Amino acid sequence: MVNIETKLQELYNVYEARRRKGDRVMAFIYSMPTDIYFGRDVILKNDEAFSKFGSRALVVTGKRSAKENGSYDDIKQVLANTGIDHILFDEVEENPSLETIEKGRQVGVQKRVDFIIGIGGGSAMDAAKAIAVFIKNPELNMDNIFEQGELDSIPVIAVATTSGTGSEVTQYSIVTSNKEKTKKNLGQKVFPKLAFLDSKYTHDLPYDITVNTAIDAFTHLVEGYLNTNSSYMSDIYGEKGFELFKYCFKKLLDKDLDQEFRERVMLASTLAGIQISQTGTSLPHGMGYPLTYYKGLPHGLANGVLTMEYLKSFKDKAKIDRMLALLGLDKLCDLESILTRLIDVKLDINEDEIYEYSRAFVSNKAKLKNHTEKVGLEDIIAIYKRSLL
Ligand code: NAP
Ligand code: ZN
Repeated sequence: MVNIETKLQELYNVYEARRRKGDRVMAFIYSMPTDIYFGRDVILKNDEAFSKFGSRALVVTGKRSAKENGSYDDIKQVLANTGIDHILFDEVEENPSLETIEKGRQVGVQKRVDFIIGIGGGSAMDAAKAIAVFIKNPELNMDNIFEQGELDSIPVIAVATTSGTGSEVTQYSIVTSNKEKTKKNLGQKVFPKLAFLDSKYTHDLPYDITVNTAIDAFTHLVEGYLNTNSSYMSDIYGEKGFELFKYCFKKLLDKDLDQEFRERVMLASTLAGIQISQTGTSLPHGMGYPLTYYKGLPHGLANGVLTMEYLKSFKDKAKIDRMLALLGLDKLCDLESILTRLIDVKLDINEDEIYEYSRAFVSNKAKLKNHTEKVGLEDIIAIYKRSLL
């Protein structure tokens, strides 16, 4: 058992080595414009926070869960208390399509809404952000959205009901383009003005969605931590997140999803969101999108299934060792045994499909740039093959 002080010293040495090489890890721009409200009944206790955004809101949700977990009831209550009208758009599907976003825009424009409240998992929150951009920019459509410069949006308030994406504190909106047959970032920066996090909404989240979404949060921590854009500042969030995951992994494996677990995993997910808002994600996220688009794999599992081979591919393991220490683990194979127990993915996939996904992925320079080591087509193919065949 390697002691944690030794590993801390090792990390310090890594920073020192990067600094001596002229690496600007100590230089960063940190921007987190979202006000975060975290805790029990946090929506009901803060109704004044809603007043400044206008008199009519579009509430954007998935088809069912927001009506069942109490989040929509709490929002209705504060909107009534503050005299704000609202219109419900509850048609967001998982991995929201641009077609649905266009539909949401039409409702918002027709009802002349001032702001949007997105309630749900990442799908509803991301759709809310995209609809907010579309409402503000009438010339936008499904065909020209990805070629735009920076655009404004009407204000967005986010209420998270899963603990995974961190979308409530990120600027990203991941949408499905059926024309391009993939998922991609809208390419606009839409930080929610307010993020509400109350773990009571997640109490009845089924075990499988709890695992999938927690794995998503974990992969954000990993990819944000082992990222070209990571800095001393972003690492603070990553490292606190790993400490929380030491506890969360045990609870997930024990299937002991009590209130304390729900709260801690929600916090870990938000910390991970703050971290990737600064760094972006890396290889598993970019490589996971076709597994969701073509094979229907839930987002968290699509990243999670690639994570071990991605980690094994690193030549420089110093920061990975530090991550393992914070997770209370000795070796990468300890993490592998946890992920193998949590992730059970059997995909019907062949080599031709892997080549196709890999070729498309290496053309995505943004994600390759975030990886700290040089990788090419053969490396990407190898990660897919070792993970999936
Ligand atoms: P999701 O697709 O939002 O929701 C998955 C399922 O969980 C849906 O069936 C949903 O039902 C249900 N659900 C949500 N909250 C629930 C609750 N409290 N109790 C019971 N069921 C609940 O899943 P997600 O993993 O949170 O989001 C995934 C999406 O986020 C992907 O599109 C991914 O690409 C994106 N993402 C975005 C970011 C970002 O920074 N913007 C980061 C990572 C991932 P309903 O449909 O009825 O609501
Ligand atoms: Zn993710």
